[in-house]
Amino acid sequence: MNHLTEEEILNIFKKTEALLSGHFLLTSGRHSNVYFQCAKVLQYPEHNNIICATIAEHYKNFEIDTVIAPAIGGIVVGQEVARQLNKRFIFAEREDKKLNLRRGFSIEKGERILVCEDVVTTGRSVFEVIDIINQSEAVPVGVGFIVDRSKGKVQFGVPQKSVVSLDAISYEPEDCNLCKENIPFIKPGSRKVV
Ligand code: ZN
Repeated sequence: MNHLTEEEILNIFKKTEALLSGHFLLTSGRHSNVYFQCAKVLQYPEHNNIICATIAEHYKNFEIDTVIAPAIGGIVVGQEVARQLNKRFIFAEREDKKLNLRRGFSIEKGERILVCEDVVTTGRSVFEVIDIINQSEAVPVGVGFIVDRSKGKVQFGVPQKSVVSLDAISYEPEDCNLCKENIPFIKPGSRKVV
């Protein structure tokens, strides 16, 4: 399996418009000069395949029974990594604000589990999945994710592997230089220019 460099992966992000440059209003209310939407790149199987290969290669010599991901963003990544490693894949989904296993999914005591996610900013969902694994007396073997937006600050206490790092630079609207230059901002997800 040939590996892409971080630069080559960033180029795929740009080509698929997963990574946009401009002036954006984020859902947090902050403004940014970049916007990233992982699903835009993972919608293409050939990109998902090659990007997830970095995670699958990293963990290929680990003893793993099952791959798990938090819904929704992680499912595409977890499914692809599990396919490449030829392991069972399950996912946890949010119910009453808490991640749970549903659909008859279960984890056996002692089962060795790799956690996958698309983007880690605070790592909240991954930490919750690790809790589910620990509560089942199973073993969290590691975490694999595509984009680290924490600049390496989020550590899960088990081996972890990200494919690329992306700086999450954003500003309060009143401190935004792009606003000061009167550049109109875009709310991603809508086509409307505000
Ligand atoms: Zn602005």
